[in-house]
Amino acid sequence: MNPDLIPSHWTEDRERLSERLSAPPRLLVACDFDGTLAPLAPRPEDVRLPEETCAVLRQLTTEAGVHLAIISGRALADVEGRVPVAVDCFAGTHGLELAGHGLDGDRAQAATLQPRLAAIATALERRLGGIPGLLVENKRLALAVHYRRVDPADWERIIRAVTEVAAVDGAFRLQPGHLVVEILPDLAWDKGEALKRIAGCLGIPRSAVLYLGDDATDEAAFRAIPNGISVSIGPSRPSAAHWMARDPDDVRQLLAWLADQRC
Ligand SMILES: [Mg+2]
Repeated sequence: MNPDLIPSHWTEDRERLSERLSAPPRLLVACDFDGTLAPLAPRPEDVRLPEETCAVLRQLTTEAGVHLAIISGRALADVEGRVPVAVDCFAGTHGLELAGHGLDGDRAQAATLQPRLAAIATALERRLGGIPGLLVENKRLALAVHYRRVDPADWERIIRAVTEVAAVDGAFRLQPGHLVVEILPDLAWDKGEALKRIAGCLGIPRSAVLYLGDDATDEAAFRAIPNGISVSIGPSRPSAAHWMARDPDDVRQLLAWLADQRC
């Protein structure tokens, strides 16, 4: 695997980007949700897709020959309810749940682990219950321990407890994110696999896929489309993505520019 490089900002390379995005008759735009399309908020339930971004996504799907997929760490039902746009495919819980174009369903093995995940949730509640601001979210196929609103003095204790409790059952792995740590089934499946599955199902070559994401879990999706068009969101840092955008506002500008290129 090549070492990750620091990608250029998308506006520095508009000509090449324009060629790549305008040429395919059918283009798949696949996006992460939190921190990519929608600005982060202190509580996950408060994250909203800005109305201007909704309008741009609608323009892309209705006028620009673009297929749209949302690939999120949120549970499927949660993310579906936050995107009031005609989305071709949704993937929830980092790709473990898929919906749209006949893909509907869970990764079977993940679903069988639900009772064991519930036992881990109970053990965590016992260890960490009572810490102000801590949120243990049971997403059905994964647990997300959000500590964004917790006193930083407690963070180390939380990470230690999550690590120890999850290690008791070898069927799970930890996935760190933005002030959240998740416990996921340890399967050879991630956002990259979900992206390849969605592109295949829609019959769109991976070279005609634009993927945008802001988190460590999105790197798998960037790697899944080495000949596609990948954009890392957030501060400048090494990434498998080819380009970067600063924040969800910058993403909206990129998508609006894309709509101009294709309309
Ligand atoms: Mg994200």
